[in-house]
Amino acid sequence: MSTFLGLIEEIPGISVDRFDEENLGSSVFFLSHCHLDHMNGLSNNMFMNLHVNGKYLYCSPITKVLLENMFTFESSCVKEIDVDTPTVIEYTLNEKNGNKILLTVIAISAGHCPGSVMFLFEKDNVSVLYTGDFRINPMDFSKLKCLHYREHSKLIPKTFTKVYLDTTFLSNDFRTLPTRLESVTKVCDITKYWLNKNPRNVVVLECSALYGSEFLYIELSKMLGMRIHVKTNVYKSYCRIAQLSCYVTNEPCSTRIHACKKKFSSKSLECRDDIKSEYILTIIPSVQKWKNRDTSVVGEWDKNQEQTFNVCYSTHSSLEELKAFVQYFGMKASEIYPCVVTSTEKNKIYNLLESITKKEEQESFKQIYTLKLPKVSKIPFKSEYFSSDDDS
Ligand SMILES: [Zn+2]
Ligand SMILES: [Zn+2]
Repeated sequence: MSTFLGLIEEIPGISVDRFDEENLGSSVFFLSHCHLDHMNGLSNNMFMNLHVNGKYLYCSPITKVLLENMFTFESSCVKEIDVDTPTVIEYTLNEKNGNKILLTVIAISAGHCPGSVMFLFEKDNVSVLYTGDFRINPMDFSKLKCLHYREHSKLIPKTFTKVYLDTTFLSNDFRTLPTRLESVTKVCDITKYWLNKNPRNVVVLECSALYGSEFLYIELSKMLGMRIHVKTNVYKSYCRIAQLSCYVTNEPCSTRIHACKKKFSSKSLECRDDIKSEYILTIIPSVQKWKNRDTSVVGEWDKNQEQTFNVCYSTHSSLEELKAFVQYFGMKASEIYPCVVTSTEKNKIYNLLESITKKEEQESFKQIYTLKLPKVSKIPFKSEYFSSDDDS
């Protein structure tokens, strides 16, 4: 749950992922993805104010589609920025201070949910990386072209003044997490097993956030050759997104896989009353249930609920992945700012950040990392991390 308040200290006049309180005085707005904890203050009224004041909100094309499904607004006040394409934005701080500010922003795929991006802001000598919520396999760091510059033929990670980091799982409770592909494969195996057992059987995927499980839907649908039934309002957005539309359906009787239920609702399927609960297997993708546990067990049957299977599925980086990210991109930054900090975990998070950025850690990491780059087998972490997990 993001605790970031929206203002980027180094770049006055812009707000990211917060649209309330003092952010209302900002001149330019950015939204990294459509999850409610990043949308505080967004409302029809807020969009109306943007329109009236000639201000703009910038986001990825997919995020705009999702916003259009949630709010009513004048299309011109939400500007799409394409991934990996620098966009120059000109703005003034306020009416009194009419000096023009030029800001370059680059959106970079964040691998978290459809349309999710990180933002790289560059202005004069300031360069700020805001990760939003993200999960990127360390094997894919070198594919993030916009976060590197080229020196001769070598790609060198850019230096940032400050990194605003998704610290959701910056915790020893979540050291390692299975890649999404491993989690999806587990879901696929258990789905196949259940559907083959009885022709009447169906599978229900109980996913928590409204958006965030789409990689799971797409891969499962591909592996099983069956579309996923989703909630009507979600379907309205999905059918406008090319990468998703052919893997989902709004016809409940056309498929045996359903992601259409509200979480914690009754065991039965609301979309079909012809299916008794004894034919339903519920699969719950989540991370919290694996807190401080062995995450190499990708999935297991629930001990308390019958016909329920839990799968460890994460759309946020694990501690080891965060460590790799910070040590790859953040070592020269003058500050790493944690964007998810609960009051009880505050000290733990700062201590962990400090230990990750320690000089000795950096040296040892660099040594191992040079070995890793040319895709050799000496990999510093468990090999499961490095199977490709590209869902962007
Ligand atoms: Zn999110
Ligand atoms: Zn359904």
